Amino acid sequence: MTTIQHIIGGKRTSGASGKAQTVYNPATGEEVAQVVLGATAEVEAAVMAAKQAFPAWSATSPAKRSNVMFALRAVMLRRADDIASTISAEHGKTHEDALGEVSRALEVVEYACGIADKLKGDFSRDVGPGIDTTAERQPLGVVAGITPFNFPTMVPLWMIPMALSCGNCFILKPSERDPSSANLIFDMFQEAGLPDGVLNVVHGGKEAVDALIAHKDVSALSFVGSTPIAHYIYSQGCAAGKRVQALGGAKNHMIILPDADIDQAADALMGAGFGSAGERCMAISVAVPVGEETADRLIERLVPRVQALKIGPSTDPDAEMGPVITREAQQRIESMISTGEREGAKVLVDGRGFKLQGYENGFWVGGTLLDRVTEDMTVYQQEIFGPVLSVLRADSYEAAVDLINKHQYGNGTAIFTRDGDAARDFSRRIQVGMVGINVPIPVPVGYHSFGGWKQSIFGAHGIYGPEAIHFYTRLKTVTSRWPTGIRSGAEFTFPRMG
Ligand code: NAD
Repeated sequence: MTTIQHIIGGKRTSGASGKAQTVYNPATGEEVAQVVLGATAEVEAAVMAAKQAFPAWSATSPAKRSNVMFALRAVMLRRADDIASTISAEHGKTHEDALGEVSRALEVVEYACGIADKLKGDFSRDVGPGIDTTAERQPLGVVAGITPFNFPTMVPLWMIPMALSCGNCFILKPSERDPSSANLIFDMFQEAGLPDGVLNVVHGGKEAVDALIAHKDVSALSFVGSTPIAHYIYSQGCAAGKRVQALGGAKNHMIILPDADIDQAADALMGAGFGSAGERCMAISVAVPVGEETADRLIERLVPRVQALKIGPSTDPDAEMGPVITREAQQRIESMISTGEREGAKVLVDGRGFKLQGYENGFWVGGTLLDRVTEDMTVYQQEIFGPVLSVLRADSYEAAVDLINKHQYGNGTAIFTRDGDAARDFSRRIQVGMVGINVPIPVPVGYHSFGGWKQSIFGAHGIYGPEAIHFYTRLKTVTSRWPTGIRSGAEFTFPRMG
């Protein structure tokens, strides 16, 4: 069985911890690899390698740094199928879905290709007699990223191209559940000409993360994952004096107004609710039709489609969704459906106990549709992160907006309507970071930034795009005066620019 190793200073190593964890193929339930688990010693070695690489890398001109991104883009385009297969083998998503992940990751690489222009500073001449001021953004040093299982390529690449092109060195601590993509990302960067030590990969779980938080030479942490861990990393990281951005979980609602094209809304809900088996932080997990009639029309369309979902392994070109990530995730999702049923939701399509012929040991959950979900139910309050769509019927547009604004999460949301006034009002008043108007999964393009509100994010910066440049750099302002402008005599008052 293969062993997935750390990559430190450009070299693969099993490290010193002696610990490892099994990686599964979720479609078959088979063990496919062991991933080594790092702790303090491996983090120490990675930070050392990154620190050694930092002076030369940060002094490399932004244009030369962006050459690596151009080369990476070419490698990724050439190897897109390999990347997608690597994702699917351990995550389980369909090949087409994995290719979509690759293309969204490429957007960030492309944005980083233009870094030289984006890092241009500000200059003000004659702010005082013979005095000029420049403002520039400098890299932080060694920064780290801790990433979730659900986008093993895209989420690391939300961070790495931006951090590196800004002049930092990076340590990636990917999910231990699908770790091969991280090593492939490294290999592609190496092929693109990245010097050793600029990017390092330390595999592991809590111990490795805690070592990164504790390390005094790690200047910043980027985290994407569940809300309890996001909050933990944000609070511990800030207490340790680091800059932290921590993106957490979600419960994304889609409002369907009575005037919406109901077939389009049903199409949107199928893709956004069940694509990637619902394991997306931007998945729509709650449909909020306004009015009983709208709800009935929607349900009428959804039931046969959820029943007919094509579920299969990533190698099946007809599959619309694959398995969930682990046996534990499968059991947790099934138990949430049972909780919903106990609390009074109507299970219109039941995905519990789903079996796929030839893949009996895989981690499958069938598409599930719950109707008559109410605000107080656990299935509504908590993130399920599986192929479960809840329908919560609202009496009015105001009630629907109120519902979303009260929810603890605020990652994404959407409204389906033909009413421009309602759409405009919704986009202004809704307490959510990413909003779609007739767009079910409004993930911003690579030259905007991604980030939710409320319990879906901790820290001031969104991820990738312009926000990433602020996160991965710090401001330096230089005020200069040359001898011809200097008056003789000491000045004891606070300097005035006059
Ligand atoms: P997770 O929180 O379990 O794990 C994320 C990372 O944290 C992994 O690298 C893991 O090793 C590490 N980790 C886990 N437990 C830890 C602990 N106790 N201490 C320190 N580190 C720990 O998340 P996941 O299950 O891999 O991913 C799914 C979650 O991520 C969902 O909640 C989803 O909504 C969220 N997510 C959010 C976004 C976003 O942009 N907001 C994007 C993708 C996923």
